Amino acid sequence: MEKMPVLFVGHGSPMNAIEENPFVEEWKMLGRKLPRPKAILAVSAHWFTDGTRVNNAEAPQMVYDMYGFPPALYRIVYGAKGSPHFAHRAAELIGGNTVTFDNSWGLDHGSWSVLHRIFPAADIPVFQLSINGRLSPAGHYQMGRKLRALREEGVLIFGSGNVVHNLATVNLNLPGGYTWAEDFDAYIQENVLKRDDDNVIDYKKAGASALKAFTTIEHFAPLLYVLSAADEADKVSVFNDSCIGGSLSMTSYLIG
Ligand code: ZN
Repeated sequence: MEKMPVLFVGHGSPMNAIEENPFVEEWKMLGRKLPRPKAILAVSAHWFTDGTRVNNAEAPQMVYDMYGFPPALYRIVYGAKGSPHFAHRAAELIGGNTVTFDNSWGLDHGSWSVLHRIFPAADIPVFQLSINGRLSPAGHYQMGRKLRALREEGVLIFGSGNVVHNLATVNLNLPGGYTWAEDFDAYIQENVLKRDDDNVIDYKKAGASALKAFTTIEHFAPLLYVLSAADEADKVSVFNDSCIGGSLSMTSYLIG
């Protein structure tokens, strides 16, 4: 079994599920170059819960957790099966008594808007792990480290979020990012490339930009899972390296 890389994707707007743009072109290219996983563990910003939850459904339901978009977006069905087997394995690695299996959620747009473009055939099982709102950045990192063994078992650990995600200041008419957004994105990128994970966990070291980059951690946390599941020797590639709309970062990392 080929050891899987780990992947963090800056997902941006849900419209990326149906729009053509250079970001989406990169996603499609990934689908052509990634090894084929046995299953995908999706850590999506959009399942932010009290406690750690894992979806173990045979067929996870679609969750259309976005509002005010064109009808075409709500008609997308990403029909991937779930993976009860790997869901139980993930829970076992995390520590079974701290995990709740929860199928009241399913595949949210953090997962399906991206996977629909990377693996459009939807023929690889997908299961989600929630972002536990009680954990510190170091706590998220430690949980990702426990999941690292899944890579050897053929599971692609896929984090979907945004390094910079401040919807209060977003203005989609702006082509790039505000200076503080670019600064924070650059601080994170520099440390990801150096594999200085401590500086990513302690993202507040970035200074003033860190205070504006996000107000709640759910879009940033998926990156911590991906970094902690990476090995020191793994090669980092950066793609979609840019900010849009002032305060959204699309910057993404494939490590492995
Ligand atoms: Zn999002």
